[in-house]
Amino acid sequence: MTETQGPRMIPEPYKIKMVERVRLLPRAQRERAIKEAGHNTFLLRSEDVFIDLLTDSGTNAMTDTQWSAMLQADEAYAGARSYYRFVEAAQEVYGYRYVLPVHQGRAAEHILSQILIKPGDIVPGNMYFTTTRLHQELAGGVFVDVIIKEAHDPGSEHPFKGNLDLGKLAAAVEKAGSHRVPYVAVGAPVNMAGGQPVSMENLRQVSAFCRSAKIPLVLDAARAVENAWFIKEREPGYADKSLKAILREMCALTDAAAMSAKKDAYANIGGFLAVNDEGLYREAQNLCVVYEGLHTYGGLSGRDLEALARGFLESVETDEWMAHRIAQVRYLWSRLDDAYVPLVRPCGGHAVFLDAKAILPHLSQEELPAQSLCAALYAQSGVRAMERGIVSAGRDAKTGENHKPALELVRLALPRRVYTQTHLDYVADGVIETARQGNSVPGLKFVYEPKYLRFFQARFDPVVRSLAAARR
Ligand SMILES: *Cc1c(COP(=O)(O)O)cnc(C)c1O
Repeated sequence: MTETQGPRMIPEPYKIKMVERVRLLPRAQRERAIKEAGHNTFLLRSEDVFIDLLTDSGTNAMTDTQWSAMLQADEAYAGARSYYRFVEAAQEVYGYRYVLPVHQGRAAEHILSQILIKPGDIVPGNMYFTTTRLHQELAGGVFVDVIIKEAHDPGSEHPFKGNLDLGKLAAAVEKAGSHRVPYVAVGAPVNMAGGQPVSMENLRQVSAFCRSAKIPLVLDAARAVENAWFIKEREPGYADKSLKAILREMCALTDAAAMSAKKDAYANIGGFLAVNDEGLYREAQNLCVVYEGLHTYGGLSGRDLEALARGFLESVETDEWMAHRIAQVRYLWSRLDDAYVPLVRPCGGHAVFLDAKAILPHLSQEELPAQSLCAALYAQSGVRAMERGIVSAGRDAKTGENHKPALELVRLALPRRVYTQTHLDYVADGVIETARQGNSVPGLKFVYEPKYLRFFQARFDPVVRSLAAARR
């Protein structure tokens, strides 16, 4: 057993009924695999991965009740029973008036952006998200970051690092004019800042500001249940409230939500666009038939709709699922922190974020430290992680220059109910060893850079440095 100063693990609130075999390839084969993948963990074959912490999106283990609900699916093209169950469950859990199913979160972002954004508009938000910003830009908008400054500092212990800076928000709206601001986007928690939550107090203030300026407030609800958990834990007055009640209170402060149900809803695919405004709903329904399919299935099968309906309800039926999830993330975080591995602080919701700049100080940002660390971690341990740094940030839509985010992170995201504490110990040992050998990790350079969301499909080669440069 490994000793840790951190929080004690709580027992899994479930038992395991079906298993999937995983294998650890020998080191030489792992090195070959990552090279063939162009040093991009997205391009690895999953069968070459031992523990897969690439993402918590669609990688969840479903309950037996979700699986059995799938057998009762109604696969009618139009007006299926499964559609109504999906809509009613989403309405009950999230509280919005109209719910449109879509195949995943970015489809909701696409439809919303196409309807609301006109060329030249600005969309203020609390730190960019990759697909969200791209859809805003494709509709002709410009994303403006109004997150508090603490979010850009991996060491800041602010309890709600996802909060919006009201001064920055008001200044952005003032500068553009409120008629050029089709909506304000709030992510809660903020994925790119390290899974950092937004406080109810901040949401209330942002909501009041938007309502007085007559600007809709749109929630990115992918992990909103996680955000509710942090409010319960850290914000006065919420300790005795259920996650379900806190979530409804959060949503009631907003006018619409784009949802990737591949996260909190414990499903493998799906999402929705939820709105309170009927006119907006009609427009969204109409675009849905162009891009997703009829508005009563939105690119999903009846089976998916059934799994999602159960998933929404189960995500807040008890707080135990989230308590265990957060405890798992904290366990991994604490093991790494005890070994002095530089991390984003405080520990966030869905993942542990390694501070690649601090772990590989010999690399400049142009040498892609987080990408390099991901590749090295896989070669060392067979663990797959994701880059969240300069590669993910992409290029400025106007100037073509690289965005240079302050945070250069490697994300270890935990799929829900998939891995055990022993797996987490193995991951911790692999990360600690990779960090210890950090100074031998070479930087990377692009050899193929796709135009959109380059981090998914880019390929890289190691940077070969001159001897003189290497000695510096
Ligand atoms: C995953 C995610 C999205 C996009 O959803 P997809 O289902 O991957 O299309 C948007 N916002 C956040 C915060 C996410 O984590």
